[in-house]
Amino acid sequence: MSDYHVLNLGPGVQSTALYLLAREGRVRFDWAIFADTGEEPAAVYRHLEHLRTLGGPPILVRSAGRLGDDLVHGRNSTGQRFVSIPAFTRAPDGRIGMVRRQCTAEYKVEVVNRAIRRELLGLKPRQRIPRDVTVYQYFGISIDEAGRAARAQKRFAEVKHTVPVYPLIELGWSRTDCVGYLRQKLPYEVPKSSCVFCPYRTNLSWLHLKQTDPEGWRRAVEIDEALRADGTIATRGFRQQLYLHRTCQPLAGIDWTALVPTTLDPMTTGECLGRCGT
Ligand code: SF4
Repeated sequence: MSDYHVLNLGPGVQSTALYLLAREGRVRFDWAIFADTGEEPAAVYRHLEHLRTLGGPPILVRSAGRLGDDLVHGRNSTGQRFVSIPAFTRAPDGRIGMVRRQCTAEYKVEVVNRAIRRELLGLKPRQRIPRDVTVYQYFGISIDEAGRAARAQKRFAEVKHTVPVYPLIELGWSRTDCVGYLRQKLPYEVPKSSCVFCPYRTNLSWLHLKQTDPEGWRRAVEIDEALRADGTIATRGFRQQLYLHRTCQPLAGIDWTALVPTTLDPMTTGECLGRCGT
């Protein structure tokens, strides 16, 4: 019988709290895996480097490639590969919708699963997990995100040999509890983890990116424009144009002072489906 205990490291507030709890022996897992889209704000990469100096469980950083580059250019030499992010689009009748995304599955979920199978379990591609092996995957989901935990639970219901674990829920910790704990443990605020161009952003969050992270903002504008440029792989198969902002306006031209701040923070309400930014 072999058990493997692995943290899905977001590495936002909740999963950072879990990582530090493990370092104190209050939660047990043996590895942490960060699936890197290559598109996080610089502050997130600095944060990861800091975590690595603390002597907790080993942090494996693994990637399926740089998401924005793959989105625009395709990944293979024929340019046939296509990946989508949850971009907004306006139908001819004016209704705004959101494109179905593949990014979370391909750049987060599969990356973590591949690292577990190949590196921790030593399996070859398509080789089955031995019967006596159980993988416990730890998630930084707090009690105020019960819906998120329920969705994750549902996803894992049919996954053999894998058991999801939610230690923050077992501890009864909310996101606020995590923030309070982290204030005592880290000399800085844990940065928000998500791709800089992720459409799951509030107006305030876009404005914050623009004002505090020039390189991240430049990248977001670059990807936003590429979503509508002729000949990029991201535009194939879409009759309507794609946008990063929920009003379907080009990001660079938005007058932020004229927009009512949106208070909804999708990254903490579950829209990102659990493995981006936790
Ligand atoms: S943060 Fe957003 S764009 Fe990045 S992988 Fe997650 S859902 Fe996709």
